[in-house]
Amino acid sequence: MKVISLENDVCAGGVSSNASPFSTVRCFQFDTFNTITALCDHGILEKATDLCRDYNDLLSKTVEGSDVWNINHAKGAPVAVSSDTFRILCAAERVNKASGGAFNIAVGAASALWHFTDGSTIIPDDEDLAAAIDESDASSIVLGEDEDGQGVVTVPDGMQIDLGGIAKGYIADRVADYLRGEGVEHALLNFGGNVVAIGGKPDGTPWSIGLQNPEGEKGADCWAVLNCEDATIVTSGVYERGFDKDGIRYHHILDPRNGYPVRNGLSAVTVYAHDSMLADALATALFVMGPETGFALAQEFDVSAVFLRDNHEVVYHP
Ligand code: ADP
Ligand code: MG
Repeated sequence: MKVISLENDVCAGGVSSNASPFSTVRCFQFDTFNTITALCDHGILEKATDLCRDYNDLLSKTVEGSDVWNINHAKGAPVAVSSDTFRILCAAERVNKASGGAFNIAVGAASALWHFTDGSTIIPDDEDLAAAIDESDASSIVLGEDEDGQGVVTVPDGMQIDLGGIAKGYIADRVADYLRGEGVEHALLNFGGNVVAIGGKPDGTPWSIGLQNPEGEKGADCWAVLNCEDATIVTSGVYERGFDKDGIRYHHILDPRNGYPVRNGLSAVTVYAHDSMLADALATALFVMGPETGFALAQEFDVSAVFLRDNHEVVYHP
C-alpha cells in the first residue's frame, strides 16, 4: 500500500480475533488490495465489498461489458453509460483542463503498451508509444446526454480511456457514503493508496495515516504520519506499479506528451482533501506537473499537497 493506515491504532485482525469492536474486510479489486475497517457489524462491510466488486465491473477497462470496455470497443460510436461513469468522466475532463493536460484518461492505449499489471518488464517501442499518444487528445472526448437524460460518451476510434488515475477515489467516496448511510461513524477505507476516513477514532482523536517510504518495506515503513478525520488522503507514487531496468524506474504514471513514465525527480505526491475522486485525479496530475506548476492547481481545488522528491526533499502546499 502506498499509504499505510497504522492499524495497530485501529485493529488489524477483525472482530473475531481480538476484543476490538472494529470489523475489518479485505478485498482485491481494481488491481489492488483494499481494506475497510469500521465500527459496525461485519455484514455491513461484506456488503461494502460487494459494492467494490460492482464498481470494478462497471469501471475496469479489462472487464468485458463494463462501461469503459464498451467505450473502448465502440469504434467511435456513442455509448450510453451509467451515472457513476458519467460523473467520473466529467470530473476527469475538469481536471484535464485545469491541469493543462497533465491528467489525461485518454492515455489508455499508451498505458496498455506498458503491461504494468501483468508483471512485464518490456519497454514499448518508441513508434508504438508515439502512435498511442497520437490517439490521446482528451479534448476529442464528447460528453453529452440522450433525450432521457442518460450520459452518452463518444471517443474517437483508436482512443482508449483508462480510469486508473481517478476511479478508485470515486469508489472510495461511494463506499464511504454507503457506510455513512448505514450509520457508521468511525471507519477507515484504504483502497491502494486512496484513504478515506469517516469521523475519527471513537476516543475522539484523529486517525493516523502513515505515508509509505518509497524505499522502505511496503506497508511497514513510513516517512511521515498525517492526522485524518472526515477527510481523504491520496498518494500517487513511482514505487507501487512498475519495474526497474538498467537502474531506471519505469512506473505507471505517464507523461501524456510522450507516453513514457514521468521522470521529474519526484517519488510521490500526497493530496489531503475532502473528495477522494478529485484527490485521486489531482495526485496523479500534480505528480506529472511537479510542485512548481502544480501549486496553482492545488490552490484552485483548495487541497493540500505534499511532494516527496527522490532526494528525500519535501515540498508542501498547505
Ligand atoms: P494508483 O492507480 O496507484 O492509485 P494513480 O492514481 O496515480 O495511481 O493512477 C495511475 C494510473 O492512472 C495508471 O495506472 C494509469 O492507469 C493511469 N494514468 C497514467 N498516467 C496518467 C495520466 N497522466 N493521467 C491520467 N491517468 C493516468
Ligand atoms: Mg490518481
